[in-house]
Amino acid sequence: MGDIKVTSSYKIMKALGKYKVNVPTGEFYKSGVKKGKEKYKKEWCEDGVKGTLDWAIQLNYYRILLEQQGLSVTKMVIQAMCRDNNLRIASERGIDQAIYLLPIHPIRDQWIQRYMRYKAKALQVALETRTLPSVCRAKERWNNRKCLDYCNVVGHCPYGNRLKVATEKPLQVVS
Ligand code: SF4
Repeated sequence: MGDIKVTSSYKIMKALGKYKVNVPTGEFYKSGVKKGKEKYKKEWCEDGVKGTLDWAIQLNYYRILLEQQGLSVTKMVIQAMCRDNNLRIASERGIDQAIYLLPIHPIRDQWIQRYMRYKAKALQVALETRTLPSVCRAKERWNNRKCLDYCNVVGHCPYGNRLKVATEKPLQVVS
């Protein structure tokens, strides 16, 4: 069972658990302020935390619904299509394929059901009281990165708006 996501190279980089580390080259600077210091280069690692929790929750919920109908789900996969894969920014993030197949691991039914009840209740309260729910957790908003570049509802979110204003660069006047 699976789902197709059209998403950014940033999200795929996070989903693959990719990150860069500094690796010593064995060479040393011969001049300048760094003279005598060792040179480093960046290398990719793929053993980081896989940022797939939102997809895993969605697919696991589908799995529960299918199993309630008597169907058996043995495997869950996200087909992630990179929307910016032909741009330089994608290769800088180590993303060089248009499509990635990402395995999704099972999450306990109890945890998924409790999460869905919590979210449903938050939505119901928000609609009934016409108040916004609490701000997404740091993990849900990718430590603000989602708010700044990838959230579809940022226009309705006071937190996201404040963040955008605070990080906006002042216009430079060219004379
Ligand atoms: S902009 Fe608001 S709704 Fe969107 S991810 Fe950030 S906190 Fe969540």
